[in-house]
Amino acid sequence: MHLADHWLNIAYLIAASLFVFGIKGLTKPRTAVRGNQLAALGMLIACVVTLFHREIISYEFIIAGIVLGTVIGAIMAVKVQMTSMPQMIALLNGFGGGASFAVATAGYLGGLEGPVALISTGAAVLIGAVTMTGSIVAFAKLQELISGGSIGFAGMKFVNALLLLGSLIAIGYLVVEPGNEMVFWALVVAASLLGLMLVLPIGGADMPVVIALLNSYSGVAASAAGFVTGNSALIITGSLVGASGLILTQIMCKAMNRSLTNVLFGVMAEGGVSMSDDEVYQGKVKSSSADEVAMILETAQRVVIVPGFGMAMAQAQHAVRELADTLEKRGAVVEYAIHPVAGRMPGHMNVLLAEAEVSYEKLKDMDTINPTFEQTDVAIVIGANDVTNPMAREDKGSPIYGMPILNVDKARTVVVVKRSLSSGFAGLPNPLFAKDNTLMLFGDGKQAIIDISTALKEA
Ligand code: NDP
Repeated sequence: MHLADHWLNIAYLIAASLFVFGIKGLTKPRTAVRGNQLAALGMLIACVVTLFHREIISYEFIIAGIVLGTVIGAIMAVKVQMTSMPQMIALLNGFGGGASFAVATAGYLGGLEGPVALISTGAAVLIGAVTMTGSIVAFAKLQELISGGSIGFAGMKFVNALLLLGSLIAIGYLVVEPGNEMVFWALVVAASLLGLMLVLPIGGADMPVVIALLNSYSGVAASAAGFVTGNSALIITGSLVGASGLILTQIMCKAMNRSLTNVLFGVMAEGGVSMSDDEVYQGKVKSSSADEVAMILETAQRVVIVPGFGMAMAQAQHAVRELADTLEKRGAVVEYAIHPVAGRMPGHMNVLLAEAEVSYEKLKDMDTINPTFEQTDVAIVIGANDVTNPMAREDKGSPIYGMPILNVDKARTVVVVKRSLSSGFAGLPNPLFAKDNTLMLFGDGKQAIIDISTALKEA
């Protein structure tokens, strides 16, 4: 059964409006769930309506694709660990780019004509292939299949520039000489290589930014594929993903102190000489106990909880919330300090704390909470490391110098809950652990917080 074009377009317009309202809803925690539902409804409408296109001549491949995709997607979603989310997102971005690339390839081999269709095809192939191979490298780095550090060679940027230039010339050639399949496949190879070479030199700590950027690329590729197939829903959705991905990239860049140009061209942060663990910690670290921490908390009026990746690892969010409840019952004010790149994906801490039903109003972003640390009696750092590292503020030789951090060391007392003095994602020692006002509570995050709560209730 097929629908007339104007009905399809009206349905696509409704779907696109739902996406826009959905994204608007996502800007505030209170309306986020509803926003997500609206966008999901929009996607359902767009998918169902697409199945009524009159160009569709056979449903067999479509049904096979839906079944296969659903099974693989469902298995992946059920099996993936929360800690492996970034690589899952990287892979999904890659699939998005790959799908646009496949659509454009099919369009081209099917004999597309006209400059708009051919330029769009070239753009979808170029950006789609870059997204696909770039995301595969990002996945391999995060999954530790290859080294997470910078991989590259002298002159790599020059080669990348040549590949980009070659790709653009190939696209131009295809518009003039559409039937030339050799040039088309040369474009595919150049774009795929470019994707690999763009992400290979980007090292560990920059990965969040790269993933956000690849997400944006996958949107632009989808938009170009929309022009190839003349599908307005795809053009609008792709543009929304492209634009919002770029905004997220900028937020992440700011949070990690990287310029977008440096990330785009794979320029590494200047890695100066940083202090060794011994220089930072020797003889200065004070280990504490749950009882001692509970004693300090007994008189605290204002407590700030600073969650990080370790809270996710320990699944300590419910225990943390219970501790906060106990403190509030005793009259203390408790707030949470959320760093934009705490954990391993954007919004990681927000998701975990929302799961533990911590009210949104208590989650404060970096700029809001930082000026309040000086009036904070106790800052409890639970599994956070890099996002609290004062080296980012003070040590010009440090690779993270300039990255905005949570100024927890300004609190009267800092309690750091983690299992050892091991480093975080950036692999650096943290002078916070050796400060005069810091107490280390070594242990698994969840158990340590439960122990503090128990001691506090008994006090
Ligand atoms: P970090 O990675 O800096 O540190 C996490 C700390 O958690 C470790 O030092 C570890 O110490 C501790 N930990 C691990 N397991 C447990 C446990 N079971 N109980 C208690 N503690 C535990 O985390 P942050 O959140 O501070 O910083 C995030 C880092 O990840 C940043 O460098 C950021 O750039 C990067 N990143 C962020 C992404 C994002 O989108 N948010 C994506 C990818 C990377 P120990 O072993 O001693 O317990």
